[in-house]
Amino acid sequence: MPSLWAETVSWVKLDDKLPGQAPPKWIYFGCDGDARPMAGIISGAWMRWRRKQKRERRKAKRQRVIVRDGMVCQLCGGNVEGRADLHIDHIIPLVRGGSSELSNLQVTHAACNLLKGAQ
Ligand SMILES: [Zn+2]
Repeated sequence: MPSLWAETVSWVKLDDKLPGQAPPKWIYFGCDGDARPMAGIISGAWMRWRRKQKRERRKAKRQRVIVRDGMVCQLCGGNVEGRADLHIDHIIPLVRGGSSELSNLQVTHAACNLLKGAQ
């Protein structure tokens, strides 16, 4: 963040909390040349934080599915432990109205999942 930018920001308290995690205490809104606050220009730091949140929640969900399914591929019954090529499969595909709830997710080998998709 350029220092000029940092000097011309006004600090605004942020009320948008995500469940379970405290957001950064402050975000700033950008100012134009006259140091007039321009609401709506959200800081890069804030955007990065939001992206990280999404990433970590996705990772945590994957982990929950893998543990729930006992590290066993739900298509062939083989072990997926330590495999880098495992997939989290939507039992009912999203395109057919399936959800991203845990109950509609299963762990599979990448190869098994691709085979399933080909059918
Ligand atoms: Zn498999």
